[in-house]
Amino acid sequence: VRNFDVAIRCGYLSTLKGGKVEVEKDRLIGVEGSRIAYVGTPIPFEADETIDASGKWVIPGLVNTHTHLPMTLFRGYSDDVPLNEWLTKHIFPAEARLVDPEFCRLGTELALVEALKSGTTSFLDMYYFEDDIAEVVDRSGMRAWLGQSVIDFPAPDNKSFDGGDYRILDRMVERWKGHERVSPVIAPHAPYTCSDATLKRAAEYGRKHDILLSIHVSETAFEQAESQKNFGKSPTQRLHDIGLMDCGCVFAHCVHVSEADMDLMAKKGVACAHNPESNMKLGSGAAPIRAMMDRGVTVGLGTDGCASNNDLNMIREMDSGAKLAKLSARDNAAVSAADMLRMATWEGAKALRALDRIGSIEEGKLADIVTIDLEHPHLQPVHEVPSLIYSLQGFEVSEVLCHGRVLLRQGRPTLLSPAGILERLREYRGRVGL
Ligand SMILES: [Zn+2]
Repeated sequence: VRNFDVAIRCGYLSTLKGGKVEVEKDRLIGVEGSRIAYVGTPIPFEADETIDASGKWVIPGLVNTHTHLPMTLFRGYSDDVPLNEWLTKHIFPAEARLVDPEFCRLGTELALVEALKSGTTSFLDMYYFEDDIAEVVDRSGMRAWLGQSVIDFPAPDNKSFDGGDYRILDRMVERWKGHERVSPVIAPHAPYTCSDATLKRAAEYGRKHDILLSIHVSETAFEQAESQKNFGKSPTQRLHDIGLMDCGCVFAHCVHVSEADMDLMAKKGVACAHNPESNMKLGSGAAPIRAMMDRGVTVGLGTDGCASNNDLNMIREMDSGAKLAKLSARDNAAVSAADMLRMATWEGAKALRALDRIGSIEEGKLADIVTIDLEHPHLQPVHEVPSLIYSLQGFEVSEVLCHGRVLLRQGRPTLLSPAGILERLREYRGRVGL
């Protein structure tokens, strides 16, 4: 008789092993400590906790490869105005006024509880005060790669422009590098907000400390055109020539990349974080994900921040991503439900260079596992299990394990307190006038 800390009886199981989307019936998962110790046909076992997922679909924890966690506090803040005006007249001034460690901590808590309830276990974040965000993530039991922003103008955590960003980075590397769940990342904001010197320094820092680098690239047609005008080359070509693509890189968006850009990304092993809902909402366009994938570029899925989505629901993002790809290709076979599930799990883990630890349910990997309750009218009858992504809303997520710990049980967070967070949010809004 095997002994597990947590055992999960699975009705349907998609392990994503080898990046393949298959559906097995009546399987057992055994978890010991932080790791998966058994996946297979049911065997005799004893466990401290047994999760009955016999009427559920079990998948790996979802990996959100691009977000700005604290921006939950800007959810619905001045929507539906032109992008440039939205950024320069609304978001940047509000950030300058409000973004401090308290804002980032509260916004992150709200983000984590929302994302947990819809099946996300891992994030790649980009924002300010990431050392504060790191502590909140650590306490939540979730997993994150936290990208401290570097940008060529005074930022909320670098107001006097005297190296505050790199002091935070140094603290993060010192405290979190090698941590099991929290990893420091360097995040130059974008090619159009960073000089060559700033980008070079960031790349050197990333290489020196062997940490990931994340950056927004080719989000809009305007950005692509400005780069041609100012530098005589595309943003991707410029980043390549600077040497930035020699780091482990995740490029967010890549909506307007050329064929040559995509070839460079494939050659350099640079991953794309695809954010379909943000790209639609901001009217940016549709990233050529089929063309990227066909060239061997790793494409992960992301929600972007809550100001441009307006949620952190990776389950709905899979649905939106499939539909946007079909619409933009005028081809309903361009991207499948299975492709999107792979993008939200296996490929996301690959983008984060963490495929040896997460991204699939396999013996020896960390236990990041999601169960989805199928006993809902809008999900029945189940003919093709992966097709569920076209009807799931996110609230059907029942259990979430991260690093072997049950963080969501029957839809209720075990560590985070949604009611407490909402209460503090009300108090905060009243106090700061948000
Ligand atoms: Zn973004």
